[in-house]
Amino acid sequence: MSSIAIEKRTGGKKTIGSEAVQALGQAMRGQLLLPGQEGYDSARIIWNAMIDKRPAVVARCAGVADIMRCVAFTREHDLLLGVRGGGHNIAGNALCEGGFQIDLSPMRSVRVDPRARSAQGGPGCTLGDFDHEAQAFGLATPLGINSTTGVAGLTLGGGFGWLSRKYGLTVDNLESADVVTANAELVHASKEQNPDLFWALRGGGGNFGIVTNFEYRLHPVGPNVLSGLIVFPFADARSVLGKYRELVPRMSDDLNVWVVVRKAPPLPFLPTEVHGKEVVVFALFHAGDPEAGRREIEPLRAFGKAHGEHIGVQPYTAWQRAFDPLLTPGARNYWKSHNFADLSGEAIDTLIAYAGKLPSPHTEIFIGLLGGKTSRVPADATAYANRDARFVLNVHGRWERPEEDERCIGWAREFFQKSAPYASGSVYVNFMTQDESDRVSAAYGPNYRRLIDVKKKLDPDNVFRQNQNIAPTS
Ligand SMILES: Cc1cc2nc3c(=O)[nH]c(=O)nc-3n(C[C@H](O)[C@H](O)[C@H](O)COP(=O)(O)OP(=O)(O)OC[C@H]3O[C@@H](n4cnc5c(N)ncnc54)[C@H](O)[C@@H]3O)c2cc1C
Repeated sequence: MSSIAIEKRTGGKKTIGSEAVQALGQAMRGQLLLPGQEGYDSARIIWNAMIDKRPAVVARCAGVADIMRCVAFTREHDLLLGVRGGGHNIAGNALCEGGFQIDLSPMRSVRVDPRARSAQGGPGCTLGDFDHEAQAFGLATPLGINSTTGVAGLTLGGGFGWLSRKYGLTVDNLESADVVTANAELVHASKEQNPDLFWALRGGGGNFGIVTNFEYRLHPVGPNVLSGLIVFPFADARSVLGKYRELVPRMSDDLNVWVVVRKAPPLPFLPTEVHGKEVVVFALFHAGDPEAGRREIEPLRAFGKAHGEHIGVQPYTAWQRAFDPLLTPGARNYWKSHNFADLSGEAIDTLIAYAGKLPSPHTEIFIGLLGGKTSRVPADATAYANRDARFVLNVHGRWERPEEDERCIGWAREFFQKSAPYASGSVYVNFMTQDESDRVSAAYGPNYRRLIDVKKKLDPDNVFRQNQNIAPTS
């Protein structure tokens, strides 16, 4: 092959001599892959099987030097650039079609300083990698609920999970980051150094540079925690969801309870006749003393007559993997999400109506619970602005075959539209799909203007555009 056609950042294609690409590959410690080469196809597979993009080049970076070199190469040749962390983003923003793909997934190191209660994470590490290392010392930072998610993208969008009511969002625990800028230079960002960049990184997504290292504050967690599931009949949905809504303001920050409404998987603690039928699941987690946790979950257990429950004290790392079997890569997925300050009766009724017509056995409606520490941080303290979001509704369409696309996506969109009047109007950027670029300003609300200003200053050419883009020209 004497030349390679690559998508340009400014539109159209550019032909580059293969010697230039080969020279770049030889100058890297990692691997440069072209279509047809071994490893190329696996490098373009991400969590959501709806996404099928073919970059012209994939650079599997081994370190900062590789990343700087690759960014400089794309600048020199004006190439469209994609940046992949854990590859979980529902919109498929990890990959770029026909462009130059930076793949950070080989960079999975995690270094914990137990005495300082801090940890450094590489841009390719997963939640599972991070928890594995931090829990060796009984420590953790708030991350998400599925262990194969990438720490990088999750952090850059805000990040929340079981620990967030007690310890805040992931970004509230970010101490600093190393970043390769649009000029291919490495800078450090913290409250003291490059404070605008540090502010923008904490929620602004991948818009401001490529983070090569994240430094987090850690907290004592577990290593054993009270956690588990209570499963109620769908016929009682209105009653149990109403009681949940009333309980939430009285819950301590230690307790977190998320709701999942779906067709019951064949869980061993559920009667077989319930398998495959709609159910209301409360997934609960207590970050403190398990005995205090048992007392605090009693009202929840008294919501009604459950089909079954499976609650116990288990390793934090096991609970962090508990949902992995339902969230494996390779399925087709389409999400629609809104934030709610409160769950009104109308919102609950709409949820019940659409849960009654789930389009596939894998589709679920979940409500993540925030509040606690996340809502005690001022909205302008970080780029993540939605501090009033208490409930995050995610309409998670999930199915297997392309023939089901239209029906499942149609259901998710319709449910989203019908529940919109009861939502707050804001959205979590990490739950937005590829067709929602018109919601970027809603994701950032009052912080959008400042984000555009920082983008103009740090990336005026919009080198980092393969994301929920904050365009410098917005
Ligand atoms: C099954 C599942 C469960 C989830 N659960 C949660 C949850 O509990 N809580 C939560 O908050 N979120 C959750 N999410 C959403 C998750 O936070 C986002 O999908 C996030 O983007 C994943 O990060 P990633 O590194 O895997 O993403 P990728 O797809 O690799 O990247 C996402 C975006 O970030 C950019 N990016 C990635 N790495 C870098 C980097 N180092 N520097 C600059 N830009 C970068 C990419 O270019 C892309 O635009 C979940 C997602 C899935 C699929």
